[in-house]
Amino acid sequence: MEDRLVICSHCGSNACYEHKQQGITILSCMGCGFTTNELMIKDSELVKETEEVMPELYKDIKFIDDQNQVWYPTVINIKDKGTVFVNGTNKDNWGWAGIKAVETTEEEKKKLKGATHKSDPKTLMMFSKEQFDDACHYIGLI
Ligand SMILES: [Zn+2]
Repeated sequence: MEDRLVICSHCGSNACYEHKQQGITILSCMGCGFTTNELMIKDSELVKETEEVMPELYKDIKFIDDQNQVWYPTVINIKDKGTVFVNGTNKDNWGWAGIKAVETTEEEKKKLKGATHKSDPKTLMMFSKEQFDDACHYIGLI
């Protein structure tokens, strides 16, 4: 199967990227920022194990589609660009956040085991729950 764009069952956009990783079909939607894979089935052991270590907010805003596939918000972390993640307290009060990465100074490189970039908390920017793509733009991903 080749990578292709499909209709997202969470937000209905056609910007949902379907691809395979280690034989598992993964869906990552650029419209709403949610992701799932064919093993993420409601009430499965995998979902239970995943949720044990998952922040409450993720469990609060997860979405279960009509195939019983469970969707969670994605986290994007690109070393030289930044991070996009969900930020909030519960399903009525959350949004996307972006933090840009900046180049480290020579001194910081020594402290950070040679890391060429670090996230810069001063660049934290909040977006609404509909603005996943804007958050991606903000860190320079698209
Ligand atoms: Zn979507």
